Amino acid sequence: MDFQTLCVHGRDKKYDLTGSITVPIFQTATFAHPGVGLSTGYDYSRSQNPTREYLEQVMADLEGGAEALAFSSGMAAVAVLMELFSPGEHLIVSDDLYGGTHRLFNHISAKNGLSFSRINTPEQIKSALRPESRAIFIETPTNPLLRAIDIEAVAGIAAGSGLLLIVDNTFLTPYWQKPLALGADIVLHSGTKYLGGHNDTLAGFLVMKDPGLAEKLRFISKTTGSGLAPFDSFLIVRGLKTLAVRLDRQEENALKIADWLSGRAELTQVNYPGLKSHPDYDLSRRQAGGFGAMISFSVRDETLARQILEQVKIIRYAESLGGVESLITYPMLQTHADLPEAERLERGIDGRLLRLSVGLESAEDLIGDLSRAFAGGSRS
Ligand SMILES: *Cc1c(COP(=O)(O)O)cnc(C)c1O
Repeated sequence: MDFQTLCVHGRDKKYDLTGSITVPIFQTATFAHPGVGLSTGYDYSRSQNPTREYLEQVMADLEGGAEALAFSSGMAAVAVLMELFSPGEHLIVSDDLYGGTHRLFNHISAKNGLSFSRINTPEQIKSALRPESRAIFIETPTNPLLRAIDIEAVAGIAAGSGLLLIVDNTFLTPYWQKPLALGADIVLHSGTKYLGGHNDTLAGFLVMKDPGLAEKLRFISKTTGSGLAPFDSFLIVRGLKTLAVRLDRQEENALKIADWLSGRAELTQVNYPGLKSHPDYDLSRRQAGGFGAMISFSVRDETLARQILEQVKIIRYAESLGGVESLITYPMLQTHADLPEAERLERGIDGRLLRLSVGLESAEDLIGDLSRAFAGGSRS
């Protein structure tokens, strides 16, 4: 089945006892047994719930994995994933991961005895390898500078050293990028972003290529209890139905906006992988077949950056991304506030850098909004 058809229909209609076109919200904590020693296949919603199960099947199919697990947030998915490792073990992680992921590694996993080496190019992985290394964890494209990492190249190193490769695919989704097909073992998502797509619920996913690994993680998940609730599962199922059309239009908007931004004298840099001037234009095209709808840009000075944040009207100044509503973020004060200042500046995340998640409004209205904000038009 084609990707778009899978988004709308899924493959498995096991829930369908009534002809319901949409998956029912099985709002129940527990399930009655037909007899002693018998089960309907469901016991207790922490272990599994039919609405969540349907969503997990759709996500496994979209990423091309054996199984998927749905969690109450992206961070809940990372926390469960870290339970796979034991004290004394070591992970090689990219420098540019989502800030919350670094916070979890530094403040929780480190306390539990895991150690981490941070790298920023595939070439550095080899020198970070240790006998106790178990996994490589990357995110591509990176946030907020949108640099691409060559997944196949990293997968080659991981396979050669017997390490798991984990890829956070939140920014591109399986519509554009399928890390499992490029050699990754586990795909991670914040479903809060494009998969849900409406800025109305949190969710997270792990998608595994290997059924044995999936079974281990399912055991951890049902034991620790951060599975996605039935109503939230329903919202993500509904979001997924329009994933492909949303992303096509959001990307089209992003390209128009990136082009417009590139011509502005007030800007010193525009980062969008779909611009031919972007250093990873070719890699993004080859690896993902698309460029996504995230743009970051640096303006002339910090005063102008703050003016834009305060004066946009259609675009909202808020953390998060991937929804139908366009959002603008100040990485220095929001997503990357926890980074030590020297490191933040070294990575180019300063007071002049803004990040824009392009939504589904008309591109002309979004450009008009930015244009007014650049010019310092009033909020009225
Ligand atoms: C938002 C995000 C996360 C964390 O997900 P939550 O749903 O907010 O817990 C992880 N990785 C990336 C790339 C994200 O953008």
